[in-house]
Amino acid sequence: MDICIIGGGLSGLSAAYSLREKADITILEEKEKLGGCLSSSKAKNGCIEDFYHHCFSGDNNLFELSDSLGISDNLEWLSGSTGYYANDKIYPLTTPIEILRYPLLSILDKFRLAILTIKSKNYNLSSLDEISAKDFIIEKCGISVYNSFFEPLLNSKYGNFKESVSAAWLISRIAIRSDRKTGGEKLGYFRDGYNLLIKSLETELENSGCIIKKGTKAELINFNGSKWEVNGAAYDALISTINPRCLTKIGGPEFPEIPYQGAACMTIGLKREVTKGIYWLNMKDKAPYGAVIGHTNFIPPENYGEHIVYLASYFKDKPEENLEEIMIKDFCNRFDVKDDEINWYRLNIEKFAGPVYIKGYQKMVPEYEKEGIFLAGMFSQSNYPERSMEGSIIAGKKVASEICRKYNI
Ligand SMILES: Cc1cc2nc3c(=O)[nH]c(=O)nc-3n(C[C@H](O)[C@H](O)[C@H](O)COP(=O)(O)OP(=O)(O)OC[C@H]3O[C@@H](n4cnc5c(N)ncnc54)[C@H](O)[C@@H]3O)c2cc1C
Repeated sequence: MDICIIGGGLSGLSAAYSLREKADITILEEKEKLGGCLSSSKAKNGCIEDFYHHCFSGDNNLFELSDSLGISDNLEWLSGSTGYYANDKIYPLTTPIEILRYPLLSILDKFRLAILTIKSKNYNLSSLDEISAKDFIIEKCGISVYNSFFEPLLNSKYGNFKESVSAAWLISRIAIRSDRKTGGEKLGYFRDGYNLLIKSLETELENSGCIIKKGTKAELINFNGSKWEVNGAAYDALISTINPRCLTKIGGPEFPEIPYQGAACMTIGLKREVTKGIYWLNMKDKAPYGAVIGHTNFIPPENYGEHIVYLASYFKDKPEENLEEIMIKDFCNRFDVKDDEINWYRLNIEKFAGPVYIKGYQKMVPEYEKEGIFLAGMFSQSNYPERSMEGSIIAGKKVASEICRKYNI
């Protein structure tokens, strides 16, 4: 049986991995490298993800896959500290004492926030799908907690969509990030980066006879009555892992209009540390990026022979013009970084970096099979109400098992 998989990100690779011994698989990947949102590029030493990544303690499918690939010994658990950049100052917010000392929330607001965090794991997320995050926070914690704490976070992540995002998304984020000890939350990272996962999958798939066509965009799909044709080549089954709207444009079925947003993420190699030892620094002050991620405050800088930070930003439709220049200039001014302290920098752009989990999103989630095409990706049920490596691995496994069931292989 011949199966074509459109997209060489984690969903496509996971589906291919599950099916590799049961079918002849061809993966078409538009870019010159595999990994999609989890792709990596060269750093001074080794590789660094184009977009910051870590995993969580509940990512069991990721752990299973790593075990099966023989790389789980490389998975390390490290502390990820957090902070807020507000009024031109860095406020660490990792330990209870740091949170108590934070001056921009009253004691009562901190108490309300703490109660919400404790309760976050018990909410039924489906019941929060039709409520906006804004309304929910104002009801549970009051307007000052919303304005001073959540609004800047929602603004930096979702911009103009900030008032449409569902409480299901926000509460799921709070729940997953609340799993922390006094020294910060434990987050997982492969010793050689997530490139190890992508490269191991690529090697295993190639060794199993999988054909991987990089730099090959699926431009036209068509069902000829018995087979799926992709760019003119015929296959018994088709898996698509791309944005459903893009699939429609190349001949796929119609889907509800799932809004997507893009990510513009700058990676900077530096001679020194700039975020006072903090891994994840959210920007409350207005800036051309929503967070500064001190990657080498999470992974030791010795691994790279330099310090690495990411400047994270999201956009709707297309990134601001001259964003690269705007970001680096703001970063240097704000963190007092001189030109000769920067080793290199690059801006990575991903147009479809994730769905926006607006109110009522749950109803838009496509089934795993539609009109004969198998669908797995960031839009799948397993990636609701936030996309993740884990969710994409599950989506890939799920379509693989649907294919096995349907075709009895
Ligand atoms: C900024 C950022 C930070 C993240 N951080 C984390 C994190 O810390 N932890 C976590 O668990 N998850 C994180 N994620 C989410 C995680 O990266 C994704 O859920 C996962 O990698 C998505 O994999 P996918 O295969 O579903 O989609 P994608 O990675 O988008 O893969 C789809 C692939 O299809 C290709 N493609 C598109 N159109 C075509 C076409 N017509 N023909 C051929 N190929 C095509 C694309 O080039 C891409 O390679 C992050 C994502 C982003 C953007």
